[in-house]
Amino acid sequence: MKIYAVGIGPGDRNYMAPYAEKIISECEVIIGYTAYLKLIPDLVTGKEVIDTGMKGETARCELAFQETKLGKKVAVVSSGDAGIYGMASLLMEMTENETDIEIEVVPGITACVAAASLLGAPLANDFAVVSLSDLLTSWQTIEKRLEAAGLGDFVVCLYNPGSKTRKNSLRQACEILLKHKNPQTCCGYVRNALRNNRQYQLCSLQELSDISVDMLTTAIVGNSDTKQIHNKLVTTRGYRLQRKKLS
Ligand code: SAH
Repeated sequence: MKIYAVGIGPGDRNYMAPYAEKIISECEVIIGYTAYLKLIPDLVTGKEVIDTGMKGETARCELAFQETKLGKKVAVVSSGDAGIYGMASLLMEMTENETDIEIEVVPGITACVAAASLLGAPLANDFAVVSLSDLLTSWQTIEKRLEAAGLGDFVVCLYNPGSKTRKNSLRQACEILLKHKNPQTCCGYVRNALRNNRQYQLCSLQELSDISVDMLTTAIVGNSDTKQIHNKLVTTRGYRLQRKKLS
């Protein structure tokens, strides 16, 4: 027996993998966080839909096992990619005590890739992804990872940059990165990437530390080779260009 951990991409249907759409269409039970299920209303109508609240991840996965054992075909959906801060690893962890259920991960376009496409081409060289959520990871560990990413001159993608209860995380993260990066480092942030009401903005690292963000935003901090070219965020890779300037 199998449970499908499906990444539905950032939201716009054009960016969902055809295979993910096929699997969801074939499943009888769709399990996920309410906000994600709202992104795919047509795919879930007429099916058994289990949408528990944000903190019900473990309960949601337990239900997936129960329904699968009843002989139903079950998909657990995550936004973006199911393996990136998604449900795939929790489902796999729970198979440790199961002998007859396996998990198939169906990948999707993750938020930093969606955000990068709107901002330009900022992920052209080595990059790190850090979530600022301290629900499952201690803030101390998050700080250590930011420090290392700054020291390594990585482009840094910040997921979960802030929420109603965590208003200062982005500022604190920028302060750590500012120890290693120039305040003028080119950055950008995107809200609702590749979804309705998408918004995005380029800024400096200094400016990024002052913006207020919510959970629907991903921020990208450039490296020392990241530039702003025609209002796009571009991480240059070291090609030697000999192009004539058009007059
Ligand atoms: N599995 C998801 C990530 C879940 S963590 C993925 O692979 O994309 C949740 C965080 O992802 C949010 O706080 C936000 O930082 C980011 N995010 C998810 N969808 C987004 C979108 N459409 N636009 C901008 N950020 C997004």
